[in-house]
Amino acid sequence: MDRELIKLEDIKMYFQSRVGLFKTIPIKAVDGVSVSIVKGEALGIVGESGCGKTTLARISLRLLKPTSGRIFFEGKDITDVDEKELKWFRRRAQAVFQDPYSSINPFMTVREILEEPLILHKVGDRTERLELISKALADVKLTPIEEFLGKYPHMLSGGQRQRVGIARALILKPDYIAADEPVSMIDASSRAEILYLLKELQEKYGIAFLYITHDIATAKHFSNRIAVMYLGKIVEIGGSRELVNDTLHPYSHALIEAVPEPDPSNRLRERRVLVGEPPSPANPPRGCRFHPRCPYRFEPCDKDEPELKEVKKGHSVACYLY
Ligand code: SF4
Repeated sequence: MDRELIKLEDIKMYFQSRVGLFKTIPIKAVDGVSVSIVKGEALGIVGESGCGKTTLARISLRLLKPTSGRIFFEGKDITDVDEKELKWFRRRAQAVFQDPYSSINPFMTVREILEEPLILHKVGDRTERLELISKALADVKLTPIEEFLGKYPHMLSGGQRQRVGIARALILKPDYIAADEPVSMIDASSRAEILYLLKELQEKYGIAFLYITHDIATAKHFSNRIAVMYLGKIVEIGGSRELVNDTLHPYSHALIEAVPEPDPSNRLRERRVLVGEPPSPANPPRGCRFHPRCPYRFEPCDKDEPELKEVKKGHSVACYLY
């Protein structure tokens, strides 16, 4: 069996939200998620906003400590390790954020942005660092390199800024990258290019990826496996093709049917399945969390929560229909 690079074990992340003057209630952003990624694998996490996917990505990078559960990297438990001892992990695990503008310093040139992590981790001298910067810029196809080295973020297009964000994530040669909606805030014309670029680099360098998105179509393109999250839980997980071609969970069906297609009959099905907004994670419904919106619900669905169980090799679902 391939060795797990990163493993999240029964992760729960509860935030306290203030209601009124004296009362707080727990928001269950992530509510018992176990998932692992092997070296070089891309796992897509798909779900609507508020399903907990971004929180899960931040936990996988140990930017957040979970309320309970364990985080393992190459078998080492890093859940409670303090920041000083995490330096080796910080070098090997990187992030690509949704908004390239807010994730890079607007007062630094491209060269300074890319040199910063190298200096922080004491990599090379000035000449060696320039070589690494040039290689990273060539990797993300920001060429001719000399044209970009001295530019500030405001002098770049959204797509070019995200390429700088990707180059920054790559420059330390990480084993793991969590990319949170990396193309959602750039113009539509650059999205496909950036996605292809990410995929190309992921395969070229054998990097394990956690790809966070609300769009199951891009997840299918980018990922080896897909996990569908709903209200803090994984409701279906399997190989990307298998999950999209032989979808099991009614919520995953709804996400697939919500992908815009020219056929208007799909829009009717979308309306039939995704009834209303998802309930608040502060107050997940009893039983199956999807039951208030599920057109297939039946007698047991509002009583107990279905477990995630493997129904085909490598394909698991949490639904009483299976
Ligand atoms: Fe729908 Fe019931 Fe399956 Fe939940 S368990 S998805 S309510 S059929």
